[in-house]
Amino acid sequence: MRIAMIGTGYVGLVSGACFADFGHQVCCIDKDEAKIDGLHKGRMPIWEPGLEALVKSNAERGRLTFTKDLIEGVKGAEAVFIAVGTPARRGDGHADLTFVFQAVRELAKVIKPGTVVVTKSTVPVGTGDEIEKILREEGVTDVSVASNPEFLREGAAIADFKHPDRIVVGAEDERAQEVLREIYRPLFLNRAPILITGRRTAELTKYAANAFLAVKISFINEIADLCEAVDADVQDVARGIGLDNRIGPKFLHAGPGYGGSCFPKDTLALLQTATAAGIDQRIVRTTVEVNDDRKAAMADRVAKALGGDVGGKRIGVLGLAFKPNTDDMRDAPSIPLINKLLEHGAEISAFDPVAREQAEKVFKGITFAPDAYAAANDADALVIVTEWDEFRALDLDKLAGAMRGKVLVDLRNVYGRAEAEEAGLTYFGVGRGAA
Ligand code: NAD
Repeated sequence: MRIAMIGTGYVGLVSGACFADFGHQVCCIDKDEAKIDGLHKGRMPIWEPGLEALVKSNAERGRLTFTKDLIEGVKGAEAVFIAVGTPARRGDGHADLTFVFQAVRELAKVIKPGTVVVTKSTVPVGTGDEIEKILREEGVTDVSVASNPEFLREGAAIADFKHPDRIVVGAEDERAQEVLREIYRPLFLNRAPILITGRRTAELTKYAANAFLAVKISFINEIADLCEAVDADVQDVARGIGLDNRIGPKFLHAGPGYGGSCFPKDTLALLQTATAAGIDQRIVRTTVEVNDDRKAAMADRVAKALGGDVGGKRIGVLGLAFKPNTDDMRDAPSIPLINKLLEHGAEISAFDPVAREQAEKVFKGITFAPDAYAAANDADALVIVTEWDEFRALDLDKLAGAMRGKVLVDLRNVYGRAEAEEAGLTYFGVGRGAA
């Protein structure tokens, strides 16, 4: 199959490289010249485990090419995937579809009859209908429009793409279904279930999945607060409920609130869809509120651990990316935390294994340390914000020795109270007994 992938970001590049690895001929397109120039030189625009090797091997075989020229990239393609960003629109949180519609108007100039246009971007219900309308306006006929939402997780994107829990295809016609089945055929050998639905249903399925996961996270975060008030341990509660097959153990880790490029914007966009449809979604609305409040409250936790005031205090921060194994800083919990600490007069020394370059674009007036121990140097408190593997086996004696104060605020429950106390640290976890 000849595939064009419009948008070469976290989703477009991973999907494009994986499709090429299946044996398809893929052209990844991006209007960001620096990204494409870098890819031509073998430089990855994002940090994702295994991506560089996958991209390079498929590019060397000639199955994966890159261009900034959409017309050139789309020419001759049997399927055109749209994987551009759909950020939250400022003000109302509606998914901003500017990039999607721009791409559609451009591709309309070269698309040939029989092509299948597929949205891989997360788009609100009805976007496929809008795309069809635009194509008609541009004089394009005999083209199918399908929805194929992507469920990969950053940090495990290639494994997720190649071993998906399911593939969702929303297609109204036989041809689109056939083309997408053919594209994903290599995965059927692994028995990945493919779910063929109506286009609107597929569009909504993606939002429902992300909203549900967001609910799960906010739920356990609220239970963590209750644990602190009644002297119970949220880790054990999570295990106690997670072993129940009906509940499942994932997304039950209490922490600083969810962030990232998807949950915050997708929950807001779902609420906008619901409002437009006249249907209240109280659970998702409350989840958004709970999460916003939680992220905003993390700085107060640190202040409380330091006796109420962070003014003039030096605080070491471990982890800046919104989760481990990515350099993605979008809506990361570290952002409101650090900004509020700075506002209240704290001095921040932060370390993240890979996100420094992205974080430098986000934070003003913080110091970037070369490793975890340097971040802890002379600190009054050390805060674990992202649970990178390399923070799981730190030498706590060495950390305590480097610090001025002895406060460890572990927002990811990486350590146990006993081991921290043994090293002379005062430990503050999340939802683990009386705070
Ligand atoms: P991203 O910002 O990393 O990449 C989007 C890319 O599209 C950018 O490089 C941008 O330059 C390019 N682009 C925009 N308009 C273009 C145009 N007209 N022509 C060519 N290129 C254009 O975004 P992302 O994280 O890959 O997300 C893409 C979509 O996938 C979003 O809708 C997102 O919600 C969805 N999604 C993301 C993830 C994730 O983990 N990041 C997972 C599932 C779904």
